[in-house]
Amino acid sequence: MNPVEAHWLALEADLADYLAKKGIAPSCRAGCFACCFGLVTLSRLEGEALLPHLSQAQRAKLRKEGPKRLALLREGKDDPRFPGRYFLARTPCPLLEEGLCGVYPWRPLACRGLLTQGDPRLCEPEAGLKQGHFLPTPWRMARLRMEAVWEEEKRRYGFLVLGELATLLYLLLSGFPGERKEAETFLEALGILGGRWGFQVV
Ligand code: SF4
Repeated sequence: MNPVEAHWLALEADLADYLAKKGIAPSCRAGCFACCFGLVTLSRLEGEALLPHLSQAQRAKLRKEGPKRLALLREGKDDPRFPGRYFLARTPCPLLEEGLCGVYPWRPLACRGLLTQGDPRLCEPEAGLKQGHFLPTPWRMARLRMEAVWEEEKRRYGFLVLGELATLLYLLLSGFPGERKEAETFLEALGILGGRWGFQVV
């Protein structure tokens, strides 16, 4: 099995076990998608694991939405107010389909680890990040899995690429450089390398 897919499944099992043992029932439900308006960060390897599962329609949507996200990132990556401006544009993840995640079995670790027992309205980006709203342990569990995927990506490519989900998928669909220097030059030329919210090459 693809190592990223193995982490997706293992995190699901770990989360189910943790929630059952603690008697925690998240308020997250199908049809609630407030958190899908947020900025989701993806690694290249996780994006590559997701790509084969995208339908032709999803690929077409990413090709259409990708340049818009890229322009937003270029414009706002150094602006501390960027997430607010980005979120307030009210453009949800392009993989959200009629209120449901269109790639649910293959959604990123960052999406899987974001759970709450609280009022779902507080997940809306405009509500601001309320301390303690999102369950901290599931997030830490997801973060540990992400770090393992990052290490695998470094082993495979010699470097790690992190960036906003829709923009990164769009770039992967279009063809992403395999060498570190080329990747940095490519992202620099697009105007989305570095800064507080831009792509990171590590
Ligand atoms: S990948 Fe799915 S769960 Fe994650 S933000 Fe997009 S629609 Fe929401």
